[in-house]
Amino acid sequence: MKADVESPCTGCGACCAHFRVSFYWGEADDHPDGTVPAALTERISPFLVAMRGTLSEPPRCVALQGEVGGEVGCAIYAQRSSSCRELLPGEDKCVRARQRHGLPPLTDAQIGKLSVDHDARGRAGTHSDSAP
Ligand code: SF4
Ligand code: SF4
Repeated sequence: MKADVESPCTGCGACCAHFRVSFYWGEADDHPDGTVPAALTERISPFLVAMRGTLSEPPRCVALQGEVGGEVGCAIYAQRSSSCRELLPGEDKCVRARQRHGLPPLTDAQIGKLSVDHDARGRAGTHSDSAP
């Protein structure tokens, strides 16, 4: 989710309620450099944690506020993981998540409003469909 003022994500939230959201455990705040509240994560491997709620079926991140497709927000937006920062509006995962929730793909106009943030690419975690 990308929830800037102009972002279509503020009226969506589908990717936060579709994928397993995993990332390197060191991004959690029980590591000196981490930001994501560790209490909102659970360990899924020696190196990875996942946002609580995203291992459930159906998945829904505990930090997601509001109803998918309505007015939504991320309770830990400034502290969210690289996996959340990397998933960009309009990409394939966005399309699939929105489809699952009965929402159409974003329009070019909606996507065109956004600036692309590549700063956190190449990290270990992801929004993924499969088990770890
Ligand atoms: S599914 Fe797409 S539009 Fe919806 S919150 Fe995620 S990135 Fe934003
Ligand atoms: S931490 Fe925030 S942006 Fe990431 S999946 Fe949860 S609600 Fe979405």
